[in-house]
Amino acid sequence: REHTMEKTIAILGSTGSIGTQTLEVVRENQDIRVAGLSAGSNITLLEKQIREFHPSLAAVWDEEQAKILAGKVRDLDVKVVSGMDGLLQLAQMEESQILVTAIVGMIGIRPTIAAIQAGKDIALANKETLVTAGHLIMPMAKEKGVQILPVDSEHSAIFQAIHGEDKREIHKLLITASGGPFRGMKASDLAHVKVEDALKHPNWAMGQKITIDSATLVNKGLEVMEAKWLFDVDLDHIQVVVQPKSIIHSMVEFVDGAVMAQLGTPDMKLPIQYALYYPHRRYLPGERLDFKTLTEITFEEPDMETFLGLPMAMEASRRGGSMPTVFNAANERAVAKFLHGQIGFQDIYRSIREAMDRHQVIEHPCLEEILETEAKTYEWMESRWSV
Ligand code: NAD
Ligand code: MG
Repeated sequence: REHTMEKTIAILGSTGSIGTQTLEVVRENQDIRVAGLSAGSNITLLEKQIREFHPSLAAVWDEEQAKILAGKVRDLDVKVVSGMDGLLQLAQMEESQILVTAIVGMIGIRPTIAAIQAGKDIALANKETLVTAGHLIMPMAKEKGVQILPVDSEHSAIFQAIHGEDKREIHKLLITASGGPFRGMKASDLAHVKVEDALKHPNWAMGQKITIDSATLVNKGLEVMEAKWLFDVDLDHIQVVVQPKSIIHSMVEFVDGAVMAQLGTPDMKLPIQYALYYPHRRYLPGERLDFKTLTEITFEEPDMETFLGLPMAMEASRRGGSMPTVFNAANERAVAKFLHGQIGFQDIYRSIREAMDRHQVIEHPCLEEILETEAKTYEWMESRWSV
């Protein structure tokens, strides 16, 4: 790898919530070069980003949109590619040192693996990839000597709290949760919630899929599995703590009982910037915590009887192998259907439950088996909810 002062990155999913905030961090700091950008289909925003950041490669999932974009940026020195091939090219770009995985869903698996194989460090937001393929990704990263730098706020908090510590002296990870927009509700209340209600997160503005995952607590379940892989801590030593205002982003308890926490206002630019400049910190404009007006921080236990996303995720993780893939794939499809008004909120739980119940676990699945399990789960989801 080249040892320049300036860093060069590529972004998988640059038009989304994490992608655009990554570019804000780049714009603010002025010393990161953007070699590659990519989007699913939003070429209007992607074109603007290309004109501002001058990447040499742009990947668009949708082939038609890729063609249109290529026509629009003919005056620039940028190559436009499409489909999975395009994402793989972006992931492995010669010039880039870090791949920011800001894409949503387990579609990120193959590009993430390709980037690790090519020796790129990963600034990881795309948790679905680690949840389903963590057993392949973590050993591969170790073998290739690449860093997996967490962008998810909880995992960044833990990463910051263990900086300079001996990992073997971690006793327990305490992952904080806001509880989502439906905190305090019971199952009978959830039967009637609407898409608009589920999209109102109390503290964070995020992409639609993760916002729904926060309402079901599936997001917290995915984060428990993500933490297990990132920090090599088993499930019995990971505890979810509800802290409704999202001031504490997560905590670590060490063997001597000391608890280290990272606090701050809810702003994803902090974990994004920390991942890009690790182990250094940079000035970050924005609101700060004010301990003159902050009067209390409260804690609760998560309601596992109502918000089944969390206990089902723990179950999927304990059963291991291909089960987290089934959990994740059923959830991805169910959330898309819920967002389209095709199923109710609790049908997301029903989908995951039934998909898991009918699945025969494959131990240590290889990449092909993970992708096959994903495809089969999607297929089953279509027949399950067909009218
Ligand atoms: P988002 O929906 O806002 O953005 C997703 C991005 O992925 C977009 O740029 C979209 O164009 C791109 N994309 C989607 N499908 C694609 C495809 N097939 N090919 C190429 N690009 C594709 O999502 P987000 O909220 O930014 O979340 C991204 C990831 O980060 C998710 O895994 C999420 O769980 C995680 N995350 C997000 C936040 C947050 O604050 N938004 C916080 C923590 C973790
Ligand atoms: Mg998070």
